[in-house]
Amino acid sequence: MSLDPRVLEALKGRHRGAVLTPEDAGYDDARQIWNARFDKRPGAIARCDGVADVIAAVDVARAHDLLLAIRSGGHDYAGNSMCDGGLVIDLSGLTGIRIDPARRQARVEPGVRLGAFDREAQAFGLAIPGGTVSTVGVAGLALGGGSGYLSRKYGLAADNLISADVVTAGGEFLVAGAEENSDLLWGLRGGGGNLGVVTSFEFRLHPVGPEILTAQIFYRLDDSPRVLRAYRDFMLGAPDALQCYAFFLRVPPIPDFPEELHGEVVLDLVVTWADALEEGEQVIAPLRQIVEPALEIVAPQPYVTAQQAFDAGVPAGMRWISRANSFEALSDPVLDTAVDRVADMRGPFTMAYFSPEGGGAIGRAAPDATAYGAREAPFVFHVLAGWADSGEDAEVIGWVDDVHEAMAAHRVDSLYVNILGDGEEERVQSAYGRNYRRLAELKKKYDPGNLFRVNHNVKPAA
Ligand SMILES: Cc1cc2nc3c(=O)[nH]c(=O)nc-3n(C[C@H](O)[C@H](O)[C@H](O)COP(=O)(O)OP(=O)(O)OC[C@H]3O[C@@H](n4cnc5c(N)ncnc54)[C@H](O)[C@@H]3O)c2cc1C
Repeated sequence: MSLDPRVLEALKGRHRGAVLTPEDAGYDDARQIWNARFDKRPGAIARCDGVADVIAAVDVARAHDLLLAIRSGGHDYAGNSMCDGGLVIDLSGLTGIRIDPARRQARVEPGVRLGAFDREAQAFGLAIPGGTVSTVGVAGLALGGGSGYLSRKYGLAADNLISADVVTAGGEFLVAGAEENSDLLWGLRGGGGNLGVVTSFEFRLHPVGPEILTAQIFYRLDDSPRVLRAYRDFMLGAPDALQCYAFFLRVPPIPDFPEELHGEVVLDLVVTWADALEEGEQVIAPLRQIVEPALEIVAPQPYVTAQQAFDAGVPAGMRWISRANSFEALSDPVLDTAVDRVADMRGPFTMAYFSPEGGGAIGRAAPDATAYGAREAPFVFHVLAGWADSGEDAEVIGWVDDVHEAMAAHRVDSLYVNILGDGEEERVQSAYGRNYRRLAELKKKYDPGNLFRVNHNVKPAA
């Protein structure tokens, strides 16, 4: 696993930030990522202090044919921000954020997490449409797509990427924007880390909040077939400012929930309304009246707080598995299969949910407007489970895979690549759909040797 000492010397000679090897005190901390199931041991971790460090690390990796991983927020479900042996370009220390309120734009470095970005942008009443968990890295999120509470209104994070600074596989520094290297910008907007190392992002921001209306409406599992049908019909005509995830969970035995629900599997409609608060109550009313809810929590909240509401449910450092399928429509068999399969779900840290990933502003953009390949598959069913003990791997992964397989009977091929799990590399091409060919051509232009391959990999065109 160790790097050749001469290679290490060559890297250290050009690198300003720390280069950590297994002998160094900080090495074990530096190789931790969100998903503890991937306990990888790189030969070295290059903690980059700036663009020059990134260029140096890319040059050394290319010259010595090293396996190379890129780490920003470290939240890849499949553990692709670390590698065994080889070199990791660690961008987590680059955390600068500059908001330009007058132009409604932001400059963000790749180590920034969503929560920090939200906080800075909300100081000016602005936000980027992004994810629903504040610990996730902006870099991986936006490069793969990036969808959350605001995406039906303002599109994906990737749709709001105006330009990016990129170090290519050749060690060349390029700016990808509308005027220069626009093909590269197209590929960065959904193509993941395939085309280069992004060292700075420029985003368009939108007015949001500071408060949005939030609701969690819990229904009993027995009622969920009816609730889900109403949810499906409601979402077809829902205004863009509304987002709603249909989330199955087993209720934990904590005082936030009435005792009669403890241990029960329930369906939680997680609703947000990012527009005039008074109007929101009326808009969400039909979702509260499908049948008698088992519990409701409806309240305006600061957008920043809403963005953190689910952080505790997906902590870093557990073992995690992610599996997901996309659907063109929530047909009765799709809904009934889900209800049937979640009935025996485990306790805390196991979740399964329908997520609108292609509707509203996302779906109105042309399918080939950016590299993101899943605009025509408006709903995703995502199964995610976390556990602590490796002895339970087979049981938990087996359950998740069973649910996933049952749902797969109804799926379409295109899928948001950021929710692909490990062992799903054969799905990458079909996940990108018609955009794969163009991405493969870009890969051939910007990374013909596939230096950047520890990711949901697009192969260079032949
Ligand atoms: C708990 C949790 C919640 C999530 N919620 C959402 C959500 O609500 N919405 C959503 O859209 N997604 C969500 N995701 C998925 C998330 O978008 C991806 O996992 C994303 O890739 C994480 O980015 P990161 O920077 O943290 O990850 P990393 O693991 O650091 O990177 C992910 C991938 O991107 C590449 N990469 C990272 N930085 C760069 C860079 N600067 N240049 C080039 N390539 C780079 C890496 O090589 C790796 O392949 C969630 C994930 C988790 C674990």
